[in-house]
Amino acid sequence: MDLQKLIRDIPDFPKPGIVFKDITPMLLAPKALAYSADQLATLCKEASIDKVIGIEARGFILGGMLAERLNAGFVPVRKKGKLPYTVNSKAYGLEYGEDVLEIHTDAIRKGDRVVIHDDVLATGGTANAVCELVRELGGEVVQCNFIMELAFLKGRERLDCEIASLLTY
Ligand code: AMP
Repeated sequence: MDLQKLIRDIPDFPKPGIVFKDITPMLLAPKALAYSADQLATLCKEASIDKVIGIEARGFILGGMLAERLNAGFVPVRKKGKLPYTVNSKAYGLEYGEDVLEIHTDAIRKGDRVVIHDDVLATGGTANAVCELVRELGGEVVQCNFIMELAFLKGRERLDCEIASLLTY
């Protein structure tokens, strides 16, 4: 299946100079959704996974589908102030700005084998912050996976774990 046809480029969003990779056409196609989740599950099927983390907000969609396929729990990592229980927080830099991500303190147990999922790997700041949140709670990051990787931003170089993506730009 050609997923690339279902990813739309939006120039100058949310800021001038950024080409935003819009996955909403892909979300409209049920077969593409199922195919993507199956492919991501295949990429980590050898590992026994306890938790899949989805990064707010676009990481929730395939992250949830992947958790179901791996028979793992799903953990939302959200922007500051959105999670209701006690949290650990981490500030991070984005391709276009800065923010704080949070995780519930009971979401990861010591020794949990964790997969982190998001739609896009850009500079790697977001995924790296989530890796740190997982490790601080005693979890092991088995893989970070993405629908797509913007290779020219070299996010890979910032992450010290296995990385998998369905598409590379
Ligand atoms: P980064 O921390 O630079 O790797 O940025 C990754 C996060 O920002 C992900 O949550 C993406 O959803 C979002 N993001 C960064 N750049 C883009 C882009 N060009 N198109 C769509 N989303 C992006």
